Amino acid sequence: MIIMKPAARPSEINAIIGKIKSAGLKADVSKGEGQTVIGIIGDESRIDFDMLRSMRGVETAKHIQAPYKLMTKEYLQEENIIIEANGARIGAEGITYIAGPCSIESYDQLARIAQQVKEAGAQVLRGGTFKPRTSVHSFQGLGELGLQHLQKVGRELGIATVTEVRSESHAELVAAYVDILQIGMRNMYNQDLLEAVARQNKPILFKRSHAAQIQEFLSFGQYIVAAGNRQIMLCERGILPLGGSFEPETRNTLDLSAVPVLAAKTPFPIIVDPSHATGRRDLILPMSMAAVASGARGLIIEVHDRPEEALSDGAQALMPAQLKGLIRRCDSISELLRSDSQNG
Ligand code: PEP
Ligand code: MN
Repeated sequence: MIIMKPAARPSEINAIIGKIKSAGLKADVSKGEGQTVIGIIGDESRIDFDMLRSMRGVETAKHIQAPYKLMTKEYLQEENIIIEANGARIGAEGITYIAGPCSIESYDQLARIAQQVKEAGAQVLRGGTFKPRTSVHSFQGLGELGLQHLQKVGRELGIATVTEVRSESHAELVAAYVDILQIGMRNMYNQDLLEAVARQNKPILFKRSHAAQIQEFLSFGQYIVAAGNRQIMLCERGILPLGGSFEPETRNTLDLSAVPVLAAKTPFPIIVDPSHATGRRDLILPMSMAAVASGARGLIIEVHDRPEEALSDGAQALMPAQLKGLIRRCDSISELLRSDSQNG
């Protein structure tokens, strides 16, 4: 990364970008408060750092060792990044609750559940439209009709919305309807999708694959930053060792230690999804409280008022009244952590 002097001129910045490009590399330019920072995307060994340091307007040029350098606090020059989405401020004070059904099944179903999750205190409404499903025989989601329902209900209630973009070919369509674009765990490795979603210039809820190590997760996140989008929320949603979990009690294994590990490395807010991690309604509350205690800045929770009739993931859906109790408890834990950190 090359840090320019506060008084560096545009021509000096352009000269650096020119040098990077002439070495066959790409430049990621960010204009921070007073200072411009230029990141190199590609094999840094192809450029002479001493030469860069000697150029006009350069304050310093340094190597970042991490293989996921574009995701680090050092490169992004931020301790905490706050994501703003239609009134929600994820990563700011307090916890952001993202709640709603696994799948949008009808306008009425969504409107009913949305009203209740909003009353319970959720700031973002979730609902799957293009569903990633293991079986072709399972409910695949309402597609664009679901997006229309989500937009309408979001506007009626004044609540931010999120849904998954399953395919590159849907990126623009989904972005036209919702506030936050989700990349599902099955697609964490899909570079073309990451770039297409990043280009929509909207906040992204980026889910860790159940089989990805933390380093790999952060490494793929760089495709979003390199495409010019820094509005990222990192989501831990449970891991599953290859060949299936050795613990059949839960759907996946919630890797809560990933929360402080990620928080130490990156300024992006971390969200936990206890619903897909456990697959069990009775485990959502304890895992949510533990996630907040671990430093998560938000929770994404599936809620259904008639879970036995849900077209997907009914067994892990919380009832709206349970969400209210969960929010009250998680807010108290968050408040306790805050007053504790203020008291040293
Ligand atoms: C979802 O949140 O709707 C979902 C399918 O989750 P995941 O990608 O984590 O399985
Ligand atoms: Mn689900």
